Amino acid sequence: MPRIAYVNGRYVAHRDAAVHIEDRGYQFADGVYEVCEVARGFIVDMTRHLERLDRSLRELAMAWPVDRKALAIIVREVVRRNRVVNGLVYLQVTRGVAPRDHVFPSPDTPSSLVVTAKRVDPAASARKAESGVKVITVPENRWERVDIKTIGLLPNVLAKQKAKEAGAQEAWFVDPDGTVKEGGSTNAWIVTRDGALVTRPADTGILRGITRTTIFDVAAKLGLRIEERAFTVDEAKTAREAFVSSATLIAMPVVAIDGQAVANGHPGSVTLSLRQAFFDVAEKSPA
Ligand code: PLP
Repeated sequence: MPRIAYVNGRYVAHRDAAVHIEDRGYQFADGVYEVCEVARGFIVDMTRHLERLDRSLRELAMAWPVDRKALAIIVREVVRRNRVVNGLVYLQVTRGVAPRDHVFPSPDTPSSLVVTAKRVDPAASARKAESGVKVITVPENRWERVDIKTIGLLPNVLAKQKAKEAGAQEAWFVDPDGTVKEGGSTNAWIVTRDGALVTRPADTGILRGITRTTIFDVAAKLGLRIEERAFTVDEAKTAREAFVSSATLIAMPVVAIDGQAVANGHPGSVTLSLRQAFFDVAEKSPA
């Protein structure tokens, strides 16, 4: 079955889908995006994702390409047309197409909107969770507005490539004081010896992950305590568990950091219980 993408008002064959060469996303990375998980035929946490999109757009003085209700309909339609039951839906908004010039184009320039969806085999994610992932650490080298979910991801691309070359699946950005910020495409967590979940405050310096927010709800349901504070790489290496969170990975155990095993080098039970309870707690919108 051919994949379908939505591009600026039209549903087109994915292989032919294209934006103009003077799209400001292409020229300047002047755009924002969201990724939502699709699980068992539901779009997960769509309200929170659209709320964060709204914030990203406002922070960059970018206009909604269509109103929020229309966008939700388009997102569902792309999922439906691609018959995605388990997978993800990606949406990207840019400041539109205009002759290349750093300053904003005229206010009547419509924002560009692209929505795509793809299937992901849930069994493959489950297998990954059974073995866990390895992370490396890299010095933080991103701008200070990583709380905005922009498509400007070059440091993340380079960090994740470095991780891959080191046989790992994620790279954690680390501040000069040794504290962990977040991964290239995930938030970072540890579980302390007394069972508390620790993750960095999301006020500045990291993206406020939607999965991270929903894990707060899951933890409340499971009676787990959360400490929102910075933690160091050394603390993570000696923690009871470590894990990363994102819409596509949910809670994914981290079994090694810079080649050193976390605890016994196997996925931790707290992480797996969060992972298991996540779908029930998250908001589920029928696709
Ligand atoms: N941090 C970064 C830098 C990310 O790119 C992502 C997701 O892409 C996350 C955290 C996790 O966010 P979410 O849970 O909304 O997927």
